Amino acid sequence: MVANDTIVALATAPGESAVAVTRLSGPDAISIASARFHGRISPADSASHRILFGSFLGDDGSPLDSVLLSVFRSPRSYTGEDVVEISSHGGTAIPRAIVEALVRAGARAARPGEFTERAFRNGKLDLAQAESVAALIRARSERSLRAVMSALGGSLSRRVAAVDSELVGLLAEVEARIDFPADVGEAIDGVELGRRCSRIAGSVREWVARIPGSRRMQEGVRAALVGRANVGKSSLLNALVGYDRAIVDESPGTTRDTVEESIWIEGVELRIADTAGLRAGLGRVEGLGVERSARAARDCDLAVLVLDRSDGVGDADREAASWVEDRPVVVAWNKADLRVGIAPRPRAPVSSELVVGEVETIAVRPGGAEPLLGALRSALPRVLCEHVGEEVATTSVRQDRLFAEALAALERAETGFSADLSYDLIAVDLADARR
Ligand code: GDP
Repeated sequence: MVANDTIVALATAPGESAVAVTRLSGPDAISIASARFHGRISPADSASHRILFGSFLGDDGSPLDSVLLSVFRSPRSYTGEDVVEISSHGGTAIPRAIVEALVRAGARAARPGEFTERAFRNGKLDLAQAESVAALIRARSERSLRAVMSALGGSLSRRVAAVDSELVGLLAEVEARIDFPADVGEAIDGVELGRRCSRIAGSVREWVARIPGSRRMQEGVRAALVGRANVGKSSLLNALVGYDRAIVDESPGTTRDTVEESIWIEGVELRIADTAGLRAGLGRVEGLGVERSARAARDCDLAVLVLDRSDGVGDADREAASWVEDRPVVVAWNKADLRVGIAPRPRAPVSSELVVGEVETIAVRPGGAEPLLGALRSALPRVLCEHVGEEVATTSVRQDRLFAEALAALERAETGFSADLSYDLIAVDLADARR
């Protein structure tokens, strides 16, 4: 279906800003804009990809604002339709007045995502690219932005197409053996086809393995500070967030009033569950804190087990350590300033395979949490699965599910080849994988 109405919406975020962009798309975009614009050249007479300077006119024909108007004629536009973008002054009042005036002139207010939907329908973007637009707008860090930009550029789709064309070749071979079983020398051949199937399954498997990493890159790595009361979790969190504030002041979307604090390490957001926010020692609240700590530990990608360097390891420490289960753990021996003499450090109460870093900190001393920051930095690549190729990052849960389904079908086909099942059955699995 090709939409035949003209839609309008503010393309930039509403609120205080120097400039705002209002976008019109549809068959009447140019005539509607022309009715509200006064300048040396009318949009109706303008070539595509030109910028016109003039006034946007209010209902009574008087200038509402000075604007720059960009004309993109179909099909060379974002949506593939005629598009006009009006750059006006920002703020709330002017952009709203412009959108309302354009609605009165015949445009319809667009639904969220409708421009991108039209771009998709008109073949300007494939579905993976369209989904990347949404992910792009949600992107929380520079690194995730790069991953999403790359998917938006179509690299994900190209990689999928490459795998698909191998699959098409394999399926054709299999189908030929269904249709003309007599013509092909079966025995050796089947083995070779099975190998080809395994190679394809292998590349999809690699992809599926990277999904958690790309998800984390986009949504942030969830970390949790875990430890018994009073080891210094709050103090460490404050110190970590403090560094971050110092480095990236006014970081966007910092979550002061929620149970999460974010720091950015090399473009990756580390979302630290603020289980430390609850003060210990108040009975009920302490219980709550313990429960929240345990829950954060269960949900995290990376745990920071905080222990007290000035004290031994006790039952409460062992209990806290048990919450991290199989997560990678950075061990922070806090209160290193209070350790007596040269008392040797006890063994941390977690399995050593899980430990991705072990440091001593002094949360209450300026710079004293720096070693922890360093340990987190070195642990991140492992948490992100080391080589999350930015070019293959998936950008939606739908894509993740489809990759998993394709892999399952390919694995059935692989089993089919090795069990010498009939080619009819194998062809069904290969076709499923393609779909
Ligand atoms: P939490 O219950 O684990 O969140 O622990 P807090 O951060 O509330 O710290 C408990 C107490 O230990 C507070 O009085 C802190 O000032 C103190 N504290 C935290 N870290 C250190 C440290 O590295 N050295 C010293 N000497 N005191 C610390």
